[in-house]
Amino acid sequence: MLDADFFRRWMAATAASVDREAERLTALDSPIGDADHGSNLQRGFKAVVAVLEKDAPATPGAVLTLAGRQLISTVGGASGPLYGTLLRSTGKALGDAAEVSEAQFAEALRAGVDKVMALGGAAPGDKTMIDALVPAVDALGEGFGAARAAAEQGAEATIPLQARKGRASYLGERSIGHQDPGATSSALLVAGLAEAAG
Ligand code: ADP
Ligand code: MG
Ligand code: MG
Repeated sequence: MLDADFFRRWMAATAASVDREAERLTALDSPIGDADHGSNLQRGFKAVVAVLEKDAPATPGAVLTLAGRQLISTVGGASGPLYGTLLRSTGKALGDAAEVSEAQFAEALRAGVDKVMALGGAAPGDKTMIDALVPAVDALGEGFGAARAAAEQGAEATIPLQARKGRASYLGERSIGHQDPGATSSALLVAGLAEAAG
């Protein structure tokens, strides 16, 4: 079973990996974006860790709802509201149980990813974070390690795609040949699950 502490560890692991990889995320956002993805998420997840330390929510649902709200209020740009919605909607779907099973979490995360698709209008293949998140959710039944591998594969598979959503879509065919920064950070988020479980 997964408790509130597991979800706090997930957010802390993500904040640490985003911090380590911030320069790479920003570099990926340079040719097909505005070179701020690393700094956007670094600021956002730092604020998430801080608010979770201050408020110490007691349930998995409350941890993710608060984390999502914090991302929405600290990160400008496309990724803040999208990642914020992902965590907030996943948290809401978990309800107020003190512990949740991995299967319940997988179902809640799928609801969260569906909300991100509804909000941003992106589908798989549009070269966005969705290209890492959907395969991860599909693989989650086989465990966190499988989800991590699927997300990493999904992020790499954005390289030959033409962007159809977000800033990169303004480049048309010139967006081909670059890995999507948001899919790359989504792979870090999913990898954080395996680390929190570790
Ligand atoms: P901005 O483009 O506003 O500077 P970021 O650089 O932080 O925001 O985030 C860019 C990432 O957000 C993209 O690489 C992509 O993965 C994701 N993204 C952008 N628009 C959408 C959308 N409509 N749906 C899903 N993901 C999106
Ligand atoms: Mg950007
Ligand atoms: Mg920006």
